[in-house]
Amino acid sequence: MTAAAVPEPFIADVLAIAAHRDDVEQTCGGTLLRMASRGLRTAILDLTQGEAGTRGSAAERAAEAERAADLLGVGWRQALDLPDGAVENTLENRLKIVRVLRLLRPRVVILPYWQARHPDHAAVAALGYEACFLAGLSKTPGRLTESNPAEDSPHRPFKIVYASLYADVRPSFIVDITPFIEQRHNALMAYRSQYANQAAGGALFVPEEEIRERTFAEARHYGLLAGVRYGEPFVQKEVGLVDDLTLLPVQSI
Ligand SMILES: [Zn+2]
Repeated sequence: MTAAAVPEPFIADVLAIAAHRDDVEQTCGGTLLRMASRGLRTAILDLTQGEAGTRGSAAERAAEAERAADLLGVGWRQALDLPDGAVENTLENRLKIVRVLRLLRPRVVILPYWQARHPDHAAVAALGYEACFLAGLSKTPGRLTESNPAEDSPHRPFKIVYASLYADVRPSFIVDITPFIEQRHNALMAYRSQYANQAAGGALFVPEEEIRERTFAEARHYGLLAGVRYGEPFVQKEVGLVDDLTLLPVQSI
């Protein structure tokens, strides 16, 4: 894990970009665990620091995010300083993400699906996409850093996929997270300031059990679509490409 200090050079295979700390844990944490289990290098960029949340301070959430990243096997995680609850697709914000994309040079970027109840999530879909495009331009305006030439070297991710768990949309594909569902839950529950029982004594239910039931049920639903136990859904804008029809997964009848 890296702190705010200059991170060691790290090249990510998969970078998940999200509006809020704990978004990744809810929408694609199992996928990051699965990628890490395959030896791929994973990273998370949270765009806000959670200062607008009703529970917990930004500092508390930072410590929790670091703990969650450890549980997800993520090698790099940082948060930008975009305003929580008011994420906007501006050039300034795009350039902040470009800097990270050029530093980590991911092949795959995971963004939130572009239609969302929370405006920040929808904003990140467009903001992240445009940052990925901009990062590949050699004439992106403004020198980004004085100290790290790599951050000035263009890099465009090969693939962008959208984590669609929050959205009522049919996914393009499912990632089987069955072996990782408990660890994903542990990572989400690392956010004690958000999910620990804070109601007055005598509460009739345990929030963690509610969260567990809801998140496991969602994962079960998406898993069933693909014939596995637990899954996470994604949308890709591109069509698929197939070499061998006999190796296509997911049974038809
Ligand atoms: Zn969120």
